[in-house]
Amino acid sequence: MKKILYIDLDNTLVNVQSGIDRLTNAEYIRYEKRLDEVPGIFARMEPISGAIDAFHTLAQSFDTYILSMAPWGNASAWQHKLEWVQEHLGVDAGGPAYKRLILSHHKHLNRGDFLVDDGLAVGADRFEGELIKFLTPLFPDWNTVTRYLLERADNNSSPTSEPYSRHRPALQRGAALQR
Ligand SMILES: [Mg+2]
Repeated sequence: MKKILYIDLDNTLVNVQSGIDRLTNAEYIRYEKRLDEVPGIFARMEPISGAIDAFHTLAQSFDTYILSMAPWGNASAWQHKLEWVQEHLGVDAGGPAYKRLILSHHKHLNRGDFLVDDGLAVGADRFEGELIKFLTPLFPDWNTVTRYLLERADNNSSPTSEPYSRHRPALQRGAALQR
């Protein structure tokens, strides 16, 4: 069995500032102090450096999910988070994040081995596995996180049982559709 790994979106996979930089002045003024409520802001954000490659790599060695919170006051963020994941990690069954997006205000309720998250909010501080605090001196970037995690992957898991592999044969793609 592969270990379960959760990865946050905002400021972990997603560069939030890149979306803020693209706001109009009018939006910036109107939504000051609640910028995460600007309609469509999430769709304007770019990935954090190295995040997409890291996700592909880690998804081969871990049972990997995205675990993110979407603002209660911004319904479009719920849609745009899904669309962001589909755009950057693929929309089809062969993609590493296919049907693996969890939006929650209660991250501690998800059981698993690791959570990579830049924050402690919405239950991240009560996650029962190991919290890997992203953007800290210990884990400043995705290279560091990936190296740390791969050393702790379950190396006994059979490659043929992986839910995702970049080089998965066509036969297993059909199996993935049943998930
Ligand atoms: Mg975050």
